[in-house]
Amino acid sequence: MDLIIDGGTVVTMGSKGIIRDGTVVVENSHIVDVGKSHDLKRKYHGHEKINAKGKVVIPGLINTHQHAAMSILRGYADDYPLKEWLEKWIWPMEKHMTGRDIYVGALLNAVESIMGGVTTVNTMYHYAKDGSEAEAFAEAGLRGVVGHVCFSWRKDEDRKALRELAKDWHGKANGLIRASVDPHATYTVDPEYMKELREITNELNEKYGSPDSPIMWHMHVAETEDETEKIRQAFNISIQGGVVEYLDSLDVLGSDIVATHCVALTQRDIKILKKRGVKVSHNPISNLKLASGISPVPSLIKAGVTVALGTDSSCSNNNSDMFGVMKTAALLHKGVHKDPTLLPAEQALQMATIEGAKALLWDRQIGSIEIGKIADLAIVDFKKPHLCPLFNEISHLVYSARASDVDTVLINGKIVMENREVTTVDVHKVLGMTEKTKESLLARLGEENKQ
Ligand SMILES: [Zn+2]
Repeated sequence: MDLIIDGGTVVTMGSKGIIRDGTVVVENSHIVDVGKSHDLKRKYHGHEKINAKGKVVIPGLINTHQHAAMSILRGYADDYPLKEWLEKWIWPMEKHMTGRDIYVGALLNAVESIMGGVTTVNTMYHYAKDGSEAEAFAEAGLRGVVGHVCFSWRKDEDRKALRELAKDWHGKANGLIRASVDPHATYTVDPEYMKELREITNELNEKYGSPDSPIMWHMHVAETEDETEKIRQAFNISIQGGVVEYLDSLDVLGSDIVATHCVALTQRDIKILKKRGVKVSHNPISNLKLASGISPVPSLIKAGVTVALGTDSSCSNNNSDMFGVMKTAALLHKGVHKDPTLLPAEQALQMATIEGAKALLWDRQIGSIEIGKIADLAIVDFKKPHLCPLFNEISHLVYSARASDVDTVLINGKIVMENREVTTVDVHKVLGMTEKTKESLLARLGEENKQ
């Protein structure tokens, strides 16, 4: 579809900066022109028009850490420590989840993401052929890196699922979906299996990937202070130094890895992350909720590490509002270091857009509004009391806007939400399916507890 988005303020996050009374021209799936309205208006004819007056056009937000299917368990168990939360609540419930449940949870998350201006989601969950996050994202028209999460206790199942996921989905749905290999964490994947997963990734990349569309790694790294102790206990190995240093000793680190959380890092760990080109996904709300600690983000950025933002699942956030994550990230590090100049608004917005694209090795195509890039865009309605008066668009986007201010969203040049109406799936139907799935899961858990 050929579109002209006209009359709004365009926050490009690219070389053209902020363009007031600007225009973005989209042909098929790509941005073909960006500039001042009066320069471009006469140049393009016959395009469908979106009037963006009073609105701000931004690159679609990129959520670099999610477990989309877990949206089905939002609010099921809150306020527990990570270990107890996983072992007593989340994992026993997840045991009962079928492919269909995963699909429903992911569809709910896809709708929520789109309605909050998120156009790309990096998600880690179980891949099942009979219902998957990839299927849900493709249906909703959401861009995603969809992984299969690997654990030492189910290697055969993982090996099969990884091959199926890559074959079935990598590069599919008009290029919206990419596959990834997701070792769950350092304490649930033994060292030998970690090395094997690196080999499997190389093998899958040879078969299905390309330099422009790689199959990546996505894993939890150094989420809590006791992670080295957990590795020692799980695999009876002695570790000197930090978790990243341990991973480096296995020779598995590379620039194709999104390391999520990175809370408990040593100075040496930070140096290794930079040296190996590992990208960090910072999830401040999840870290606060699970009381995991605070990632040394200012030090990581100072060291030159790419740091992007993520929500984490709807069990530990509990929503997928990337505006909330931007604001929390910007506030948290100021508070901790008693320095209001740390992580300024523009940097937070970069982390949610272009840095997110870099983290997913997708920055040649998405993450900023520039000629030749794919049209993944969010249009934010600024005609609201909490976004008025307007001195500075970026200040409002980070400190005052929220997901519900997003008015229209394009992904791959296609309108997936217009005036807050999702065009790809029936939102009310998704909400109904979700409640039904919740009831059915509770019934299955009840049956098990009776036995
Ligand atoms: Zn996570």
